[in-house]
Amino acid sequence: MEMKLSRGPWMRRQLATLSSPLQTVYSSSASSLSPIPPISHPLKSSTNPPSLTHSSSYGLGEENSCIPVIGSKVLLKGMRYHELEKWVQSHGFRPAQALMLWKRLYGNNIWAHDIEELQGLNKDLKRMLGEHAEFNVLQLKDMLTASDGTKKILFTMEDGLTIETVVIPGPRGRTTVCVSSQVGCAMNCQFCYTGRMGLKRNLTAAEIVEQAVLARRLLSHEVGTITNVVFMGMGEPLHNIENVIKAADIMVDEQGLQFSPRKVTISTSGLVPQIKRLLKESNCALAVSLNATTDEVRNWVMPINRKYNLGLLLGTLREELQFKRNYKVLFEYVMLAGVNDSIEDAKRLIDLVQGIPCKINLISFNPHSGSKFKSTSEEKMIEFRNILAASGCVVFMRFSKGDDQMAACGQLGNPGEVQAPLLKVPLKFRAALEASSV
Ligand code: SF4
Repeated sequence: MEMKLSRGPWMRRQLATLSSPLQTVYSSSASSLSPIPPISHPLKSSTNPPSLTHSSSYGLGEENSCIPVIGSKVLLKGMRYHELEKWVQSHGFRPAQALMLWKRLYGNNIWAHDIEELQGLNKDLKRMLGEHAEFNVLQLKDMLTASDGTKKILFTMEDGLTIETVVIPGPRGRTTVCVSSQVGCAMNCQFCYTGRMGLKRNLTAAEIVEQAVLARRLLSHEVGTITNVVFMGMGEPLHNIENVIKAADIMVDEQGLQFSPRKVTISTSGLVPQIKRLLKESNCALAVSLNATTDEVRNWVMPINRKYNLGLLLGTLREELQFKRNYKVLFEYVMLAGVNDSIEDAKRLIDLVQGIPCKINLISFNPHSGSKFKSTSEEKMIEFRNILAASGCVVFMRFSKGDDQMAACGQLGNPGEVQAPLLKVPLKFRAALEASSV
């Protein structure tokens, strides 16, 4: 059910402030499937890593012109298996040798970091790799452990920027790695710490894949097998869709990291054209951050809604999911006290998701400096959950993990001194934000 957009005074002010960064972020056609053009954002320098290029050399041909090269070397973790195989063959080696290399990079608990760890591989192949291939794109900078066992890993990249990856031990041996897809984020969701950074740049597929590989390499002995991946770290994954789809393909390869596509979840704030593309090109799970039941509230807390409103977003999902068998989208709903957690919100949410195969995750808000939002109390979350469940919705509640080390949802990154601007709080919600925590 599409909610009517109120264009009261506060709404006009918000639209005026949007002249700016977000308006220039997206392609002019909402239905276009082409990649989003480079973002004009006051806090970003470039969306691409500085020294990364793409090459069609190495005998890869035009169809492989997206093989990433750093300096004169190919990034091994930036290639899907068929690309690696062709590249290895172009240097005079057999496909079986490419498969052995692939398995040492990703399988059999080796997660090879350099040529010294390629036991059993032909000497000439190792020499060639030493000359032409780069194994690693991330350097471990720090690792923090929260009181609940959640780990936050900080990695430095070639250009000196830092990203964060979180490993979350779960019940019944289900351990999840939460990977970043960008440095910072352009979406400016008002409740999110990462959003304060603005967008610095996109991560390459290699930088995304290596987060999962290093999480396993560094922590499997301590937390057990990492079984799940969520693209819910720093960044809007679908704003970097090319590299995210590629990284997810590499992660689910059956000869490599072997994550089940159903256990790799790609999250979005609601980029409609990119959602359509993802649903066509990937079998991985999709999570959509909803976080409001009216356009009025969502335009404020998630400014992307001004480009792709609730009616368009949910209508697209309703339509596209008809063609996916046994597939449910996960709606994430961060509960903000006095903003989106009323009984009316619960009832509207039931109407909004009608006809969409889905599960709903109610998430407690993780407070952080610079945000005036308050967490909804546990009792109120349970009441909200019960209303949804009574109507037949599949609904879960997720409480904060890792928040004492700023490793929780929406707490990643380091905005620094120059921050993306917070939007003006609509008059009717000021009291809720100024009230003391419930
Ligand atoms: S919630 Fe996600 S999409 Fe929104 S600003 Fe934060 S990182 Fe970006």
